[in-house]
Amino acid sequence: MPVALQSSSESSVSVLDEILNAPGVTSPFLAATGSSSKPARKKLFRRVDREYSQSLRLGVQLFLVALNVWIGVQFYLWVRWAESGGQTLEVSRPAGVEGWLPIEGLMQLKYFLLTRQLPNMHAAGFFLFVSFLVMSVVFRKSFCSWLCPVGTVSEYLWKLGRSTFRRNFQLVRWTDIALRSLKYILLSFFAYAVASMSAAAIAEFLGSPYALIVDVRMLNFFRYVGSRTALVVLGIVVASVFIKNFWCRYLCPYGAFLGLASLLSPSRITRNLDTCIDCAKCAKACPSALPVDKLIQIRSAECTACLECVAVCPAKDTLAMTVPGGLRKRDAIPVWSMAAGIAIIFFGLVGYAKITRHWSTDLPKQVYLQLVPNASEQQHPMPGAH
Ligand code: SF4
Ligand code: SF4
Repeated sequence: MPVALQSSSESSVSVLDEILNAPGVTSPFLAATGSSSKPARKKLFRRVDREYSQSLRLGVQLFLVALNVWIGVQFYLWVRWAESGGQTLEVSRPAGVEGWLPIEGLMQLKYFLLTRQLPNMHAAGFFLFVSFLVMSVVFRKSFCSWLCPVGTVSEYLWKLGRSTFRRNFQLVRWTDIALRSLKYILLSFFAYAVASMSAAAIAEFLGSPYALIVDVRMLNFFRYVGSRTALVVLGIVVASVFIKNFWCRYLCPYGAFLGLASLLSPSRITRNLDTCIDCAKCAKACPSALPVDKLIQIRSAECTACLECVAVCPAKDTLAMTVPGGLRKRDAIPVWSMAAGIAIIFFGLVGYAKITRHWSTDLPKQVYLQLVPNASEQQHPMPGAH
């Protein structure tokens, strides 16, 4: 049942504060919620509702992992069919693989905004990209903690590290901030490349042989991985065991993009100062190392809406994902409605693309039979070059 939670003063806050919101970082919210204002120890009114956010999230994560494994296997079989000249088992190309091409999705979004025309190649990637973007604007960076298979693997790697070594590690503050800027640097590189392309240049790129089989090149990158790349991947895996969400926190430009979009979101974790007993369990549980127990509202670009903080809070009606519910008032949203909202956005856009026949890229088989076996020979087209 939705409950009204105490609203924070809507004090202005810089984008940098939003992005770097972390323990020890000065924030207007910290000033507003200093523990000095609460001298007496408060009585705990223990929550009685059944907490199911993490089992629901795990169910969604497992569904998405299974879906991606299915897509991956089907895509591999399709590539093998094309490489063999049509001799092996023929399966259709799964368009969902285009969800793994976010830079192309960004190009397609720009093309759509400039021309009002839906892309006719790899449109599934466009619809998936837009659904993840909308999800971030509505439910913060929920894509990372509910849907992304890489996020799921990262999460279970640090949970494995915690159960094995009884703890995870946190980098010292300035190293952490410096490393967190890496994902924004990578994002600016891609954003600059896309921003400098005209609609005509994007159309030319998307129709090029290179772009038509860029997904095959991506698969081949992992099929024929070199020793140096394998070492880098191994390093990230090992680091992920010790440091929570190492890839997502420091390196993922897609997460950085969705995090910036999430700054527009009206939904945010909100703490009720009146009932909070300052036990700090929420801050300890937060995989993004956010000082949940010190803030009234979590507006950080690092919040993935995982609800781990909500799950561990022992106090009744104290911590919840909330949306504006009127003037200076916020209403808690039930976990099921958040999961339902994510599903509606995801399946709604995918369903729309399928019903309007925009989902699959319709190319003659001969094109793929010719391009796929020579995927590694395709050169990245230079804008404007003919
Ligand atoms: S634990 Fe709470 S504050 Fe931390 S990322 Fe998850 S939802 Fe956001
Ligand atoms: S878990 Fe966090 S919000 Fe809940 S009572 Fe403890 S400090 Fe307060």
